[in-house]
Amino acid sequence: MAKHPPHKKRRAPHKDSVVVIGLGRFGRALALELIDEDTEVLGIDEDAEVVQSLSGSLTHVVRADSTKEDAMRQLAVHEFDRAVVAIGTDLEASILTASLLISFGIQHVWAKAISEAHGRILSQLGVQHVVYPEHDMGQRVAHLVRGRMLDYIEFEDDFAMVKTTPPADVIGLPLGSSAVRTRHHVTVVAIKRPGEGFTYATAETVVESDDTIIVAGRTRATERFSELQ
Ligand code: ATP
Repeated sequence: MAKHPPHKKRRAPHKDSVVVIGLGRFGRALALELIDEDTEVLGIDEDAEVVQSLSGSLTHVVRADSTKEDAMRQLAVHEFDRAVVAIGTDLEASILTASLLISFGIQHVWAKAISEAHGRILSQLGVQHVVYPEHDMGQRVAHLVRGRMLDYIEFEDDFAMVKTTPPADVIGLPLGSSAVRTRHHVTVVAIKRPGEGFTYATAETVVESDDTIIVAGRTRATERFSELQ
């Protein structure tokens, strides 16, 4: 029989920790990345094999059904400030879990949506951060496929950062003289020589043909810049 909450008080350690519910491909990658960044993670999944495969890799990993309030309270999920619902395909489980986390008053709830309708319901429940991993990654790869970009991140408000190789008209000149900003409407923010790490670019930085650069600007401008030869 499930007992009622053993933890009544907010315990400090949970405030900085993250609970990740659903340890499929997305939840697992997210949880392991958090661990890599020294964040404590409580991972929850109802599948014993999934839990077994991650035991020892996360701070805690527990087998439980996240739609059951008693089970979640026993795991002190209500004491966390940050939670991620990484259940996609099982819509019912995703929605019930998100609703439970919201009713716990957890401040920051992220949830993965697999469709627009799914995302809309999660937002209506009060989930502050709805993410669409498949959709967003599809868009991102489209940008990589179109241009010569090595990497691409689009922010809100039509702003992007792109990792690319330099076009001919900026090679051999200090960035200050090649007027990248006025001619191409992008800013070169960092540069990497072969075999070295990235460093900040300055007006004096001279770009060589085998360098890799990171540029920032409006989405179309960064795309156009990365298409130049
Ligand atoms: P992926 O991230 O692999 O694309 P997905 O979007 O297909 O995952 P699901 O398969 O629905 O999502 O769920 C991901 C994980 O969540 C699975 O490991 C599953 O066992 C777990 N899960 C689903 N429902 C629950 C639940 N009610 N309680 C706990 N874990 C659950």
